[in-house]
Amino acid sequence: MKKRSLKLRPFPWKCRTCGKQAVTRAVVTYETEREHDGRSYAIVVPYLEVFECGECHARLLSDESREKVTDALRTKAGLLTPKEIREYRRGLSLTQEQLANCLRVAKETVSRWETGGQIQQRAMDLLLRLFFGPPSVRAALAGELENESYQGWIDVVDQEVQNQPQKATPLGQPS
Ligand SMILES: [Zn+2]
Repeated sequence: MKKRSLKLRPFPWKCRTCGKQAVTRAVVTYETEREHDGRSYAIVVPYLEVFECGECHARLLSDESREKVTDALRTKAGLLTPKEIREYRRGLSLTQEQLANCLRVAKETVSRWETGGQIQQRAMDLLLRLFFGPPSVRAALAGELENESYQGWIDVVDQEVQNQPQKATPLGQPS
């Protein structure tokens, strides 16, 4: 509960944009444009609490409101939510580290997806959905299959994976 002292100051606050003492709390239909993974999304969040300047209309968001906007972006982009990622992973009795190893990402990356600190890229979202789907995909990604027909596919996945740990892959090299 840090940074909450900011909220306790009486309104109106001084605007950081125009310098006028005109910032108050407001509940608005918040419309914004957000970039994610090279695409632009028009986001609308109804009933969002903001701090708005009555003079220049500059807006500030609390952490909580910022999170609501991020949730709306995730929904708009059709990406798995942090809760879904966490529940699917737990459903397979995997630790964050085990999932991270299978997907060739850092454990911290999985942790950030699950806490909402980072939104996964579309390719990673697709990989997550594949991983949580057919057992054969999980087996291939877990490196349990020696079958060479999987090797080409795994190489493609490897190239798409962002933030790869610098560790050597346990999979053999294609001949
Ligand atoms: Zn202002």
